[in-house]
Amino acid sequence: MKGITVLGSTGSIGVSTLDVLARHGDKYRVVALTANRDVEGMLLQCEQFRPEIAVMADANAANRLAKGLSDRDITTEVLSGLRGLEIAASMPAAHIVMAAIVGAAGLLPALAAVRAGKRLLLANKEALVVAGSLFMKEVAAHGAEILPIDSEHNAVFQCLPTGGDGDLVSGGVKRILLTASGGPFLTTPLEQLATVTPAQACAHPNWEMGRKISVDSATMMNKGLEVIEAHWLFHAKAEEIEVVLHPQSIIHSMVEYVDGSVLAQLGNPDMRTPIAHALAWPQRISSGVDSLNLFEVAQLDFEQPDLRRYPCLELAYQAIQAGGTASVVLNAANEVAVDAFLSQRLAFTEIARVVDETLQRLPVQSVEDLDTLLAIDGEGRAIAEQVMQNRVLSSGIG
Ligand code: NAD
Ligand code: MG
Repeated sequence: MKGITVLGSTGSIGVSTLDVLARHGDKYRVVALTANRDVEGMLLQCEQFRPEIAVMADANAANRLAKGLSDRDITTEVLSGLRGLEIAASMPAAHIVMAAIVGAAGLLPALAAVRAGKRLLLANKEALVVAGSLFMKEVAAHGAEILPIDSEHNAVFQCLPTGGDGDLVSGGVKRILLTASGGPFLTTPLEQLATVTPAQACAHPNWEMGRKISVDSATMMNKGLEVIEAHWLFHAKAEEIEVVLHPQSIIHSMVEYVDGSVLAQLGNPDMRTPIAHALAWPQRISSGVDSLNLFEVAQLDFEQPDLRRYPCLELAYQAIQAGGTASVVLNAANEVAVDAFLSQRLAFTEIARVVDETLQRLPVQSVEDLDTLLAIDGEGRAIAEQVMQNRVLSSGIG
């Protein structure tokens, strides 16, 4: 029986993870669950899975959870704050940790799991975008194991010869082809993008996801973050990673070899497949996902992404080339801008401009220590807020 901690258990990936775990009660035991503020969701999950620990990042929410659990005679211990998240991520009873907190907020809990030498199921791509080099060093230093949950990286991992931890060139790999659906605005006339709403941006054609990643998919910053994620996970240079638009989201990504072979991983767009794969790897377990019906799919299309439609994708490639703290700033500015778009304080097309201008204002530094990275993250957020205010004032949106 393997113990599992699910960080971000009330979110889209968290719920899909618990769905897979519930199918395999004989193999896995949930030892800790964590969320930010969703007390109702957490109460229901504690009732079903009876973890040893439940953490609410928010202290008020933790108090309400403790009261709700005691009213129901559930003995789960309640913790709160970053310390609580780190305890859940590193507790001895957890063999496997699912990192499914959204944004840079997930970095420190994921690092705690790495430092405790866990098998880390990494959905929280922002952790690698912010701290890639340091994160991978810590993984090696503590004998931790990262298995990618992002569907593209999970697909690449499945298509690579050595389970992804070897050198690409000696494995005969020529390039990695990351597929992208193009999101809900693939064919929207460019001049209409400035007025699209959060509800339209979150209505993804193929995947049901949290709101932040849904907006990232619409701008394709998500694919940009994934290029950076692939760079760290698979030791790939920016020029070894190509993004291919594939609107059906059936091929989750591909690996091309020097002999001309291209291996792809296909399946229905349902995150329970990569979750089940990573939980059981190198074995396989059922996930609840339907068989792929190729007759219904009938057609697979591919095209090159148009960078006028998706300027965020280019910004991410530039951040890899710039190196150092550029990715931290890219991510921080994007989180601030997406949050503002979701609360209707910023136009959709301004997201890329805010990120671009923030990157231009903050000179790139080369840093490896965590405190400096976190300080730059804070600085990036503050400058992005300023840039946003200036742009909103000068454009009259607001
Ligand atoms: P979500 O918004 O649905 O869920 C986020 C979870 O994190 C929730 O449980 C929330 O309570 C918790 N959380 C939010 N802010 C927090 C904070 N400050 N401190 C502690 N906990 C906090 O997000 P999601 O769609 O499940 O995505 C989670 C991560 O997985 C993201 O990094 C995303 O990019 C990645 N991912 C998601 C999908 C998908 O299909 N949803 C696919 C690939 C990768
Ligand atoms: Mg993805």
